[in-house]
Amino acid sequence: MKDDMKFSLTCPLPISDYPKVLMAHGSGGLLMQQLIEKIFYTAFSNSHLLTAHDATVLDIPQKRIAMSTDSYVVQPLFFPGGDIGCLAINGTVNDLAMSGAHPLYLSASFILEEGLSMETLWRVVQSMREAAAQAGVSIVTGDTKVVEKGHGDGLFINTTGIGVLEHDDIISPDQVRDGDAVLLSGDIGRHGMAVMTQRESLSFESTIESDSMPLWETVNAMLKEGIRIHCLRDATRGGLSAVLNEIAAASKLQIDVDENAIPVDPSVRGACEILGIDPLHVANEGRFSAFVAAENSTRAVEIMNHYSPQKNAACIGSVVVGKAGLVTLKTPIGGCRILDMSSGEQLPRIC
Ligand code: MG
Repeated sequence: MKDDMKFSLTCPLPISDYPKVLMAHGSGGLLMQQLIEKIFYTAFSNSHLLTAHDATVLDIPQKRIAMSTDSYVVQPLFFPGGDIGCLAINGTVNDLAMSGAHPLYLSASFILEEGLSMETLWRVVQSMREAAAQAGVSIVTGDTKVVEKGHGDGLFINTTGIGVLEHDDIISPDQVRDGDAVLLSGDIGRHGMAVMTQRESLSFESTIESDSMPLWETVNAMLKEGIRIHCLRDATRGGLSAVLNEIAAASKLQIDVDENAIPVDPSVRGACEILGIDPLHVANEGRFSAFVAAENSTRAVEIMNHYSPQKNAACIGSVVVGKAGLVTLKTPIGGCRILDMSSGEQLPRIC
């Protein structure tokens, strides 16, 4: 375990002499300035944030930057393998990485419900601190609002990220070409099933943990090796089926994939069967699809596996001219069906 990972276990809540829960109003309430200084500045400390100005000023020399934003409302706040804090960092970092950008800076906005336990907030903030350190990003500006009890659901987070493009490649759906290999960086369904089993209080022989992780390191290694990446997309809400359908539609090409080639852990498959959900529609928070030149496919999968905890990245199919927007799935028994984006019910509050 790295030193910075130990911090959350050993560092006490720095506001033990304050009320245990967040108060919106009244003299007993924790003043917002104290909250910001004791919790957020302590956890996210860096020179940009500590200027405490209305806006932070960043030196960004590159000519192209990428920007992305997302809000996080997952319930429950904590689940096996992660929590709303690490999702709020990795989700935005990964969206930047999917454009080929090196994530550098994040903003973090918190909407906190009166009555939220200070310890809960502290745990979430520590998780964000650890995830930001792992992803190599700094939280350089932020905001906090408190809403009255009953007007929030504990804690919502928005993060906005800025990354820089250190190359001239264009990585986007309109770059996908006939003949491209379709790659998947690891097994699917872990995040959605980790949250659902926690929410439904289901227990299985082995706990399903979220796959939440930052993806820039993998993408950067692919770029540095000269992999001709045409498009990247992380398989978050809507799962792999949403990614394939979105890219097929945007590129006006057909995508053919082989279900046998798509890795799904047996525990995830079992949970999906019990809940009646197709793993192809389940959200992931640390998996992405890459559309690359076919001759780079084998090397790209090797690189993905180098950074994947489960080492089960795979080439799952290819792009063909066919019918624009169509995704076909070769089934394990040798049949072929259309993989529809909307045939699976979307799981609510999953990220
Ligand atoms: Mg995304």
